[in-house]
Amino acid sequence: MISNQKLKAGLPRMIPFVGRIDEAEQAVWIKQLSALLPEETIVAFCLLSDAEKSQCDVAIVVNPDPQELMQLPNLKWAHSVWAGVDRMVDELTMMPFTIVRLVDPELAKTMSEAVLAWTMYLHRGMPFYRQQQQEKIWYQRAMVMPQDRRVGVLGLGELGQVSAARLVDNGFRVSGWSRTAKILEGIRCYCGDEGLEALLRDSDILICLLPLTDRTRGLLNYERLALLPSGAMVINFARGPIVDEMTLLEHLDNGHLDHAVLDVFAQEPLPASHSFWSHPKVTVLPHISAPTNPTSASQIVAKAIRLYRANGFIPEGINTSLGY
Ligand code: NAP
Repeated sequence: MISNQKLKAGLPRMIPFVGRIDEAEQAVWIKQLSALLPEETIVAFCLLSDAEKSQCDVAIVVNPDPQELMQLPNLKWAHSVWAGVDRMVDELTMMPFTIVRLVDPELAKTMSEAVLAWTMYLHRGMPFYRQQQQEKIWYQRAMVMPQDRRVGVLGLGELGQVSAARLVDNGFRVSGWSRTAKILEGIRCYCGDEGLEALLRDSDILICLLPLTDRTRGLLNYERLALLPSGAMVINFARGPIVDEMTLLEHLDNGHLDHAVLDVFAQEPLPASHSFWSHPKVTVLPHISAPTNPTSASQIVAKAIRLYRANGFIPEGINTSLGY
């Protein structure tokens, strides 16, 4: 399966692409990555012979099947082309290789655009006026200036920091929460349990950009959502299970919360029977806030692999005990 030319050049470098995505999407990734790494042979995992599998020290992955990765006995690291690796962390805990996730400034920019767009949607009352139009109601809500709108961002990592900064640039009063303490210009930073409580009490719009880990699963439960000011709104662009969906619905129904913009769900695609679909206080998005850009992501992966081939450097992997 390896080309004669590459064998002659003494470069039997097979890089498996391991992923549970459809074939067409996989073909796009392999084509892009191969164009950027012509010295490498990047192939779908299913095309590798056992001998070829045993040569692989690096893999490119997207939601990989653990059974397939286990067939690569000499794997040192795997570069994911996705930023979120919660499923990999869950499924690959005992694997002896480094998991590198995608850190792409283009992705952070895309997410910050989504954060700004949907914050504006809530800030300017778009769901509310849409509803009024349907009912032919002419009513002007009191205008709130951005500097009077308190926005809380949960997660101040690659995506959270850029998103929070973009909100600051647009005049909002921004707070953020992370695991470790931070000092960020223009952002009131909180950490720890007490910090979370303070941030929730001070957020008219709450935006979730946390990774899904053992510690964040179910974090936004009934009690924590109750700490938000009355009439607060929630945006979840991270992972569905961080928010307890049933208690979110309770808070929307009992009038404590005004609206939720949800891009991620406990079950995706969202089942047709789910009450979110037709709930007047819920905006459902089909996991589109920040899709991976194959062009920029391929460049990042290619650069990392080149560096590894040149000097053995493996990019910083995720911390499997923290889960992100
Ligand atoms: P990241 O760089 O790893 O940042 C994670 C942030 O969350 C960090 O600030 C971290 O704190 C904080 N954090 C983690 N665990 C915490 C805890 N227990 N308590 C408080 N703070 C905690 O991740 P990212 O690249 O910004 O991505 C965030 C998530 O966005 C991804 O995991 C993925 O699930 C999701 N995502 C969604 C989409 C979409 O289209 N909807 C696209 C891409 C990514 P420290 O800074 O102290 O470590």
